Formats: sequence, structure tokens, C-alpha cells
Amino acid sequence: MKKKELASIPKPIVKKEYQKLRTMFKDMRGIIQAECREVSGEETLIINCFRPKGKKRVELWFRLFCQKEDYITQYFSDKKVKWRTGAFDYIAGYQISDWCRMEGKWALASPQDEDIIIEFMRKWRKKTKSNRCDAGYKFDDYIYAYQADIRDRKLIAKHQKVCGEIDARMDLFPELPDDYQNFIEHTVFDEHNYIFYSRKQKWAYCTRCGFEYEIRKDGVYHKKIPVWNNKEKLRHNHDFMCPHCGKWIIAKSAGMGRGQLLEINWSTIIQTNGSNVLVRYICHTKDFRKDFRHPEFNSRELFRTIHTPKNVEDYEMGYYKMGRDSDSYVYRWRDPVGHGWGWNPSELQVPRQTVLYNTDFGLLTDTCMKYSCFDIFFEKVVPSIRNSSPWIVDQFFNLYHEYPFVEQVLKLGWYSMAKEMFVDKREIQGVKRQIESGDFSKLISAFSPP
Ligand SMILES: [Zn+2]
Repeated sequence: MKKKELASIPKPIVKKEYQKLRTMFKDMRGIIQAECREVSGEETLIINCFRPKGKKRVELWFRLFCQKEDYITQYFSDKKVKWRTGAFDYIAGYQISDWCRMEGKWALASPQDEDIIIEFMRKWRKKTKSNRCDAGYKFDDYIYAYQADIRDRKLIAKHQKVCGEIDARMDLFPELPDDYQNFIEHTVFDEHNYIFYSRKQKWAYCTRCGFEYEIRKDGVYHKKIPVWNNKEKLRHNHDFMCPHCGKWIIAKSAGMGRGQLLEINWSTIIQTNGSNVLVRYICHTKDFRKDFRHPEFNSRELFRTIHTPKNVEDYEMGYYKMGRDSDSYVYRWRDPVGHGWGWNPSELQVPRQTVLYNTDFGLLTDTCMKYSCFDIFFEKVVPSIRNSSPWIVDQFFNLYHEYPFVEQVLKLGWYSMAKEMFVDKREIQGVKRQIESGDFSKLISAFSPP
């Protein structure tokens, strides 16, 4: 709103009648007088408020300017004039909290003043299609609903802007590769298979290779397999070697309940867009419960990171509150939110481990990670890290962002030093100081290259 033009509107005069009103209503909050006029081409409602001063007198308190998109209050306190953006009820001091509003106790300068306010508000409601039901009947109820609605609209507009910016960043992410489903089914869930069997019906079925066997007196048999497994017995919840896979796989009796057989695992994929490196974390489930011959696969991508030449941006899927109401939550990409101490997420929310899709890191050429030596780190350092975190890819890129000299450390083949830097951040400052001073002798004695 244009404050300068609003301020130039002549201030209302304290009329003699107001002093009379003052003596008639002893406990009143103030006197309301209203007018409508055009200000910089826009219809503007001006609500002038006067307040009691002493026992008989009245003074100008504040005036509220209402336009289609916004409102503002010019407050005449003591000597200075202030602009206030708060709600009418707060400024007048009878809104205690969001839920508690005291009686207005306003006196009207004339009955027409109420009509002017209500007419403006009714027109505004029609124009903006506002249907708030808390408008009530009195003029101050109308003001309350009008201001609450404008606040909501502003909040939604603010959140839409935030979401629009996030959506634009999400557009950087390309489609997943065509073979990703195949990767999920055969690599991500390679360790999540069973041999189901029914001794009564004389069959056994391996979910890993899809071979169906006949249970014979001396073992499981398949006509295509020359050597059949005749050493172990199929026992519920015990390992059994699938003759075709040659792998030890847990056997499950088909007659037993499968209520628990929902497998969860995560995958990570690195992609690029220009010089940006994109890391995605996807949660997968493999559900044997309905039909173990055709397990159901489901995927939900829950975390994304963008490494740009300048910074790191983290995003997560979650509920985002668009407006003030409790039903305004939208499930979408959002900035990460903090969690309290009691937060104990399930594996469906946060990974405990993941399987990396990429095997060739040539895709990092021409990106901000081209000199990070991620391939060396992955090949030489990662296997030696015990209990590595599911976020290891991002953690390494973050380390490189912060300490680019990890490149030299890896190129020199000082893998144990790179590992120490990665695992224990306290080591880094010492390494950094010595690299900067050009004194490598201490480093060499501390971390002898393999
Ligand atoms: Zn098999």
C-alpha cells in the first residue's frame, strides 16, 4: 500500500458530538467513524477510531485503511505516527489470543458509519469470493473476517512462492534410467528372497531364480538341473541352497503365515545436470504377502540433494503446510525439517542402508565433482569403512565441498588418511595445516601409504 498517499489524506477532526458520546457511554472502548474514497485509483475504506482521554475528552487513536489486497493501520501514539500491520482487534486491544476475542464496546459516530463498513466488506467478499463463515453480523466481525482472509491469502501466496522455487529445482532431475526397475528387482532385492515349499503338495519355489522344484524322497528335483540338492532338508526358516542359484536362501513353508514378508530396501542414484550433481534416495518395498510368485514392488523417492559448484541443497518428501488451517497440508518436496529427540523413524522413512545404482563414475566429468576423485574413494576407501552410513555419497561430496584437498590426498594414494578425514572430522584441520605449510613429512609418518 502506498503509505505516502494514505498519509496525505487529511486527518479526521474530533467533533463536538464525540465528546457528548464519551459522557453517555462511560465504559466504551472508542468511537468509530468510516468513509469510503478513492486512493491512487483504488476504492479504499477508511475506519477512523477515537479513544477516550481523561473523563470527558476524546482523541484520535488510529485509522485503518482497507483495500482489496491489503490493509494497514496508521497509529497516532504520543508524538510519533506509526504504521502497523497487525489486525484491528489486536491494535484496539480486545483480541487476547487466536481463540479469545472480547466484546468490542464500540460507539458509532453515526448509524451510517456501520453501513459504510458493512457495504464495503460485502462488496469485497463478492469480489474476492470469500466465504468465511466467521463474518458474523456486526461491523467488527466483518473487519475480523476480512483481515483474517487477507492474512490467509498472503500466507498461501508466500508458501506458493517457496514451493514454486523448490519445484523449479526439482525440474533439474531427469527421469530414472530405463533399467531401474530391473535394478530394483534383481540387485536391490537380491538378498531378499525365499524358497517357499509345500511338502504335502511336493513342490518348492525359489523367488530369486523363479525355478519350481519337485520334492522327491531324496531331495528337490528339476529336470533342467543335472545335480539336485539332496544334502539338506527343507525346513521352515532355515537356509537352503537353491540348486539353480547356488545361493543359501531362507526356506519358508507355504502353509505358514506370510504376514511379515514385506521387504524394505533403499537405492541411491547419482545423476547430473550441467555442472550440478544430483543424488536421489529411493525407498523400495517387495511384498510377498499376496502372491509370492509375483511379489509386488513399490518405490517412493524420499530424499534429494543437489550439489552445485557453490553449495549444497537438501530436499525431502513430506507434508508441507500451505495455509493456516490444519487441513492445508500437501505431500510434496520440501526443505528438510528438524526432528525432536523422540523421533524414531522406520526404515520406510529413513534408510539404514542403500544400494548404489552407479558403477561407473565417468558421469562426474564436466560437473562440480570432476576433481573429487569419487571413483578412487569408492574403490579404495569405502570398502574399509565399517558400518558405513547410507548417506555416504553425499557425505563424501560434502567433505569435498568443504575440504577440496581431499583430491590430493586420494591422488597420492593416502587412503587411510582419506578414511580418517572422512570418518573423523577432527583429523582434517591438522591435515589441512600441514598440506598448506608444505610439510609432508609428519603426514607421511602418521599415515604411511599402503
Ligand atoms: Zn534360485
